[in-house]
Amino acid sequence: MKKKFLTFGAPVIRQEEIDEVIASMKSGWLGTGPKVAQFEDAFKAYKGVDHAAAVNSCTAALHLSLLSIGLKPGDEVITSSMTFCATINAIIHSGAVPVLADVDFRTMNIDTKQLEAKITPKTKAILPIHFAGRPCDMDALMAIAERHKLKVIEDCAHSIETAYKGRGAGTFGDFGCFSFYVTKNIITGEGGMVLAKRKEDIDRIKVMALHGLSKDAWRRFGDEGYKHYYVTEAGFKYNMMDMQAAIGIHQLKRIDACWNRRQEVWQRYMEAFRDLPLTLPPDPEEGTRHAYHLFTVLIDEEKTGLNRDSFLNSISKKGIGVGVHYLSIPSHPYYQNAFKWRSKDYPNSDLIGRQTVSLPLSPQLDDEDIDNVITAVREVLKGDG
Ligand SMILES: *Cc1c(COP(=O)(O)O)cnc(C)c1O
Repeated sequence: MKKKFLTFGAPVIRQEEIDEVIASMKSGWLGTGPKVAQFEDAFKAYKGVDHAAAVNSCTAALHLSLLSIGLKPGDEVITSSMTFCATINAIIHSGAVPVLADVDFRTMNIDTKQLEAKITPKTKAILPIHFAGRPCDMDALMAIAERHKLKVIEDCAHSIETAYKGRGAGTFGDFGCFSFYVTKNIITGEGGMVLAKRKEDIDRIKVMALHGLSKDAWRRFGDEGYKHYYVTEAGFKYNMMDMQAAIGIHQLKRIDACWNRRQEVWQRYMEAFRDLPLTLPPDPEEGTRHAYHLFTVLIDEEKTGLNRDSFLNSISKKGIGVGVHYLSIPSHPYYQNAFKWRSKDYPNSDLIGRQTVSLPLSPQLDDEDIDNVITAVREVLKGDG
């Protein structure tokens, strides 16, 4: 076994990224500038869309998208009870009331029947997450949105490469929000991107991401003579820096190669764990592309003889960094107090939250790392942890 701890979700950083960041620093232009514009263009080309705005996180992308749909106090936004807290917090900070629908136990994506049952006259939008990189049932979801005249904001933090029937995640809804956080499939350190169907939405999001300053305010320090800027809205400080975009530009160039490696790792795990008493992730559905962001296994104490938290402890002690994605949203005290949510009312999310473990899945893993993960999982389950 390697001595070094295998960090969960470690990104692949190459010399190209390092050189580009240094070039940014030497240029004296660290903030939002030409590299951000270049990264936006490259991302638009990758997703095949016309409108995108880079921001400093997916959380900011979600917040600005939600603000763009004109929510009034008391309006409701339906999302899934199995997601990262940022999804819920963005809804709260947009002034709307988050409403949860449980997930399908197998796919971990929002259950569209439960989603439709949660719709009220106050519902304004739905916010699906393509969990672990597996696309939601977009035919059913978009049909519901159309029937009830709801906006759709896709949380694509796990799903940069994801596609459903040939169409990319984040291009179905009114908005698609992406994350380039350090553990995501491509990274800029911190960073995010918003896609929007309508140009006017992206124009406004760019204004809102930079204090609410009039369009292209970053040009004010350029060499075309001094320009005043004007505040047209009370905005936020959500812009991406050129230093971040410098990383993203090169990460995006390697996205297909990285995806291939993710798929290889996924398949190695699927084969190696077939005989173990674990619940493995289902194969990608036909006609879809999985982003292979997370490889989640479920540890059912009745089958394995040890509970999830013991598994986490034992495997960490063997030098393997693992994650939990996620405890169910209603199991957190803040939401229990604020919304009277109870995890038992979302039984699938509740059970996933108590059983799930994410194993390392990153193009950074070499074959020896994969073997080490496989050996560690087998040893822990055999009880010699
Ligand atoms: C990571 C993540 C976010 C937040 O992304 P940031 O870029 O860190 O703000 C939102 N939703 C989901 C599902 C995530 O996994």
